[in-house]
This record gives sequence, C-alpha cells and structure tokens, in this order.
Amino acid sequence: MPTLTLKPGREKSLLRRHPWIFSGAVAHVDGDPAPGATVDLLAAGGQFLARAAYSPSSQIRARVWTFDPSEPVDADFFRKRIGTAIAARAAWPMAPATNALRLIHAESDGLPGLVVDRYADRLVAQFLSAGAEFWRETIADILLEETGLQSIYERSDADVRELEGLSSKVGLLRGSLPQSPFTILENNLKFTVNLETGHKTGFYLDQRENRLRVRGLAEGRDVLDCFCYTGGFSLNALAGGAKSVLSVDSSADALALCSQNVAMNAPLESRHSIQEGDVFQLLRKFRDEARSFDLIVLDPPKFAPTAVQAEKAARGYKDINLLAFKLLRPGGLLVTCSCSGGVDAALFQKIVASAALDAGVDAQILAHLEQAPDHPVALHFPEGAYLKGLVCRKA
Ligand code: SAH
Repeated sequence: MPTLTLKPGREKSLLRRHPWIFSGAVAHVDGDPAPGATVDLLAAGGQFLARAAYSPSSQIRARVWTFDPSEPVDADFFRKRIGTAIAARAAWPMAPATNALRLIHAESDGLPGLVVDRYADRLVAQFLSAGAEFWRETIADILLEETGLQSIYERSDADVRELEGLSSKVGLLRGSLPQSPFTILENNLKFTVNLETGHKTGFYLDQRENRLRVRGLAEGRDVLDCFCYTGGFSLNALAGGAKSVLSVDSSADALALCSQNVAMNAPLESRHSIQEGDVFQLLRKFRDEARSFDLIVLDPPKFAPTAVQAEKAARGYKDINLLAFKLLRPGGLLVTCSCSGGVDAALFQKIVASAALDAGVDAQILAHLEQAPDHPVALHFPEGAYLKGLVCRKA
C-alpha cells in the first residue's frame, strides 16, 4: 500500500475525524500512487492514521475513506457505505408525497466526492474527487444492486472536478434514460426535471423543507420569489394560498419551466406571474416604482464557493437583502438563503442584520433554515453545512 506521511503535528484534524488532508500537511508520498488510488496516511512517527484516496492535483491532497486500520477499501467497503446511506433514507417517512431525494451526500455519508440523487426510478451521480472517480465503475454497479434500479445518469460537470484534475463528464453511466424531462413529486407538488441539463443534478433537492415552510407562511400574501429557477418556492407559496406570486429569474429557460410547473399543478392559475431579469436590477426598479410585497424569497446562486470570495459575496447578499427589506410591507416576511460554502451561518446573519440596519428597518428572526435531512452534515465535517438561511419578520 502506498503511504502519505504527514509533517509533525499535522495529524490533529484527522484525530478529530475530519476527512481532509491539505497539501501543506504532507511531508512525503511513497509508493507512487496513481490519482485516486488508496493510500495509508501516517503520522510523522509512522503510526497509521487513516486510509484515504490520493489526489495529486488538489489542495485537498487526500480524502479519508476509513479510520479503521483493519478495513480494506474495496467493493465490499463501498457496498457497506452505500447500503448504510440508502437504508438511512429509506427509514424516513417521505413517500408517497416525495419521490426525489439525495441518497448519498459525499463526505457526510462517509463517501468523499460522491453525490447520488434519486429522481423517481432514475439515479443521477456526481463523481467529484479523484477517489470517487477511481472507483466509479464499482460504485455504479453497487448503486444498481442496492437500489434495484436500472439507470444512472452521470452529471460530473461541477466546477470542483477541475480542482481534482478531472475533466467534466456528462452522460449515461448505466442503463438507458427513458424520456427526459420528466416529472417528479415533492411534497405532493409536481415538478418537471431535466436530468441532462438542469442545475446540479436537475433540481435543488436541498430546499425541500424550506419550500414547505414557505407554503405554511404564504396564505393571503403577495409573494416575490427571487432566483426562482423552476419555481420550487413559487409553487409552494401558491399551494399555501398566496394572494399572488411573482417569480423572477435571469434565465428564460428556467422561467419557462417554472410556468409549465405551475400549469401542471394548478391549471388556469391566475395568481402567478413571471418576470425575466437580473434580481439586483429588478429589486431597484421595484423600489423606484414603490412596489411592495408581504413575503420575499431570496435564494441566489452560490456567491462564494470558498472563504476567499466571502467579502465580495457579503456585498452581494447585503445588497439584495437591503432592497428586499425595503420592499417588504410592515409585518412582511423575508426568507433569505445562502448556499455559499465560504459564508457560515453566523456571518450570514451578520450580513442580513447589517442590511436591515442600512435599510432602516427593525426585524426579528423567526426561524433558521438549513438543508433538508437527506443532505446530512457529519458532526466532524462542518463544511457539509453549506445551505443556511433565515426567516425574518419586518417590524
Ligand atoms: N430557488 C430555486 C433555486 C435557485 S437557483 C429553487 O427552489 O429551485 C439560482 C437561480 O438564480 C438560477 O435559476 C439562476 O438562473 C438564477 N440567477 C442567477 N443569477 C441571477 C441574477 N443576477 N438575477 C436573476 N436570477 C439569477
């Protein structure tokens, strides 16, 4: 087994069960491992610390598969981890209201770099690290065995692949892809999903619970859904009895799907309208026109993938939150989210607080939002908690 020996004192994070080793912590690599191959991580004194996937191109030089010296990394290992992750989801009482969920959430399910979502009877997989890529054929076979399904579509087109020295890969991995776009069910609402071209693996499954919360808050309100994509929040607001819902996105394709989704759930829906445009500009325009709303959802794309971009991202978040506070009527609700890994929940709350301050409004936090539980966060891997949000009530 090739080995990777750490510099003195650099084993601390591993002893706390954090699964990453950064390049700066590595003293030397022995045995000439291929990208993604399994290596033993050793302390400076030579003691075994963990067994990991080697990634020579990435700053994250190794990602831990197991801390158990007696556990080999082989097909049985993946069968066990994948089986455990799937069994945990099967124990949740979601069916029959929901048939799309994350089955494997990478590091937090003990499978660094592997994301697998289930959309009805289809699987969509992302192999995002050299280690996951190394085992992809084994993993693909086991996924079909463990789920009893027949097809896997691969969406390894996330930017992070580049950091791992991997090129983008999209296409059928196993079986055939019967007709896409097709329809999934989320909390009894139907959504059209395009697995081949949709964002991420097709749909933002992580917002499921937060959308349901909006459903519970929307009754009788004029709602503005900013960054609506295919209408996840908009449809829930309509289902919750909103007086009106305006869905805004810069993508004409997303808006077309959003309208189609509304039509599919509530034919002849007259409470819904769409507007194409840049949210930053549209919110200013609405302010200048003195328009107002009772509930505003802000669910922008990732402004800061890592902490390096946090400052610029903070300006973006502050800008849209400040404008949203201004557009809210007294007693109005702001549902504001961030999926930036580089902005943690405490910083996000500070940004929203300073937006309220500059908008000259008082507000209370009614709830903290997080990613749905099929996107769990391993206790020792706080990076797994990327989605955060607040429900605020304007005084
Ligand atoms: N709320 C959605 C997910 C939002 S994803 C859901 O529940 O499914 C982010 C969306 O923001 C994408 O649809 C993207 O097209 C849109 N977007 C990105 N930048 C934008 C901008 N400046 N103005 C408007 N929309 C933008």
